[in-house]
Amino acid sequence: MKTQRTALVIGGGLAGLSAAIRLQFAGIQTTLLEKNHEVGGKLHEVTLGTHRFDFGPNTITMPHVFQSVLEKVHENPDDYFEFIKLETHTKNVFSDGSHLFFSSNQQLMTEELARLDPQSAKKYAAYLKEVKKLYHLSNKHFLHRTFSSWKDYLSLPLAKAMASARPLQSLDQFHRSFFKDERIIRAFNRYATYIGSSPYTAPATFGLIGHLEMGDGVYYTKGGNHQIALGFKKAAKKLGVRIVCNEEVVKGYSSNNKLDSVETKSGGHYKADVFVLNGDLLTQYPRLIQESDRPSMSNKKVNQFEPSISAFVTLAASSKRHDLHHHHVFFGDDPREEFQDIFQYGTYGKDPTIYVCTSSKTDPSMSPDGDNLFILVNAPPLKKEVQRSMDLKSMEQKLYQQLDKKGLSIQSNIVASKIVDPQMMQDHYYAFRGALYGVASNKRKDTFLRPFNRSQDLGNLYFAGGSTHPGGGSPMVVLSGQNVAEKIVQAYKQ
Ligand SMILES: Cc1cc2nc3c(=O)[nH]c(=O)nc-3n(C[C@H](O)[C@H](O)[C@H](O)COP(=O)(O)OP(=O)(O)OC[C@H]3O[C@@H](n4cnc5c(N)ncnc54)[C@H](O)[C@@H]3O)c2cc1C
Repeated sequence: MKTQRTALVIGGGLAGLSAAIRLQFAGIQTTLLEKNHEVGGKLHEVTLGTHRFDFGPNTITMPHVFQSVLEKVHENPDDYFEFIKLETHTKNVFSDGSHLFFSSNQQLMTEELARLDPQSAKKYAAYLKEVKKLYHLSNKHFLHRTFSSWKDYLSLPLAKAMASARPLQSLDQFHRSFFKDERIIRAFNRYATYIGSSPYTAPATFGLIGHLEMGDGVYYTKGGNHQIALGFKKAAKKLGVRIVCNEEVVKGYSSNNKLDSVETKSGGHYKADVFVLNGDLLTQYPRLIQESDRPSMSNKKVNQFEPSISAFVTLAASSKRHDLHHHHVFFGDDPREEFQDIFQYGTYGKDPTIYVCTSSKTDPSMSPDGDNLFILVNAPPLKKEVQRSMDLKSMEQKLYQQLDKKGLSIQSNIVASKIVDPQMMQDHYYAFRGALYGVASNKRKDTFLRPFNRSQDLGNLYFAGGSTHPGGGSPMVVLSGQNVAEKIVQAYKQ
């Protein structure tokens, strides 16, 4: 009788859960180990009294990616989570007091643009066409596949696709080729932060995010976006995945270019035929595997990767309902300077753009006694081997004062708050230098040549999550889990 194959997934973020579901469905007995008390990773719920918040992804795009994880294992996604489309999803407020609503309704959007600049509005249809093209190109050639070695790049269709994905133009240049009004460019340029990068260096390829938000739409998950992670957990358990929380993997044991087993902090030993590392590969691969056993990813090489943007987040429970949109962005005066401060000087912007998500505007049950404000400013990733030196409470105070100047007075109504900064991001999720999205996409190399989905040193070790292909952000990491699991399943069929 054939013995059943076994898989061990290290980390229960969206990528790990997505991989575990697919592997178990294929008949591979899968165990998932998560160091924290709950799965979900960066996507989880925070509760302050009667106020509930989503930490992590507040903007959900590509709902079909989450739904298809369940459909592929013959489950009905409606039994797990429900997406609500936010048609006019974001209010962008500029330093001169003017505003621009973002909507996936083309008619409304064109009218909005025309209010600020009729010339830009005339170009909107052409912009939509181009970003749709960029999305379909990426969808066909990059999003649904793994990259396991250099050989995977050596195909003519892929080379052609890479060349036509506007890799040499920056996102800012791309937006300027359609729009003339600085406020409009500023609002679209913010898409670079969705991949943790600067619009002045990230390739125009990421204009595809415009297609996702404006063409496809922005979504919210009823009861909070963390319902996606809980839904994945429920499906994984139903299929028979063994999920063990509070179980941190601290060491891997390898022989003959294979990973044999891992050891956990509590003294447990887990063997498997195949391993998927969902914990950030740039922190966990070097931690678990001694350097002599991973020549392809030396410590020096790890240190050469540029981490994506990080964030300073305040989850603020207010006793009041404020005049806010579900997604509300207060722009600073000089975004170019802000990105320069972050990526070149490693400091916070002086007059930063502040993003506020108030999911209670769509779902009042999230905080029946006042608004739940998720307030985020872009932060530089942590410097190498330097610990935080900032006073968190004074930083929070500064943020409230900056919001006050931008016309949002909330401080006197805050009844409770919780701060999360880059250092906590690193400590809690082992995120590479506190990065939100793994590796940045500020260089073409880092966009198209991210670390592979499979270890070059240990043949049965795969990687899924923001630091590998296809990239960071919740739908991308879910795809990465699916792609890796599919690769493993197909390899076992041969
Ligand atoms: C503040 C913030 C805002 C964001 N906003 C958005 C947004 O609006 N839209 C969007 O799409 N994305 C957003 N993101 C990004 C998104 O959250 C991530 O891309 C995604 O959740 C990452 O999933 P992952 O599975 O790759 O990694 P993670 O969520 O980091 O999961 C990895 C898991 O592995 C565990 N782990 C690590 N090492 C070990 C170990 N040794 N042993 C056991 N377990 C281990 C960690 O505890 C963690 O649970 C945001 C992120 C943050 C932090």
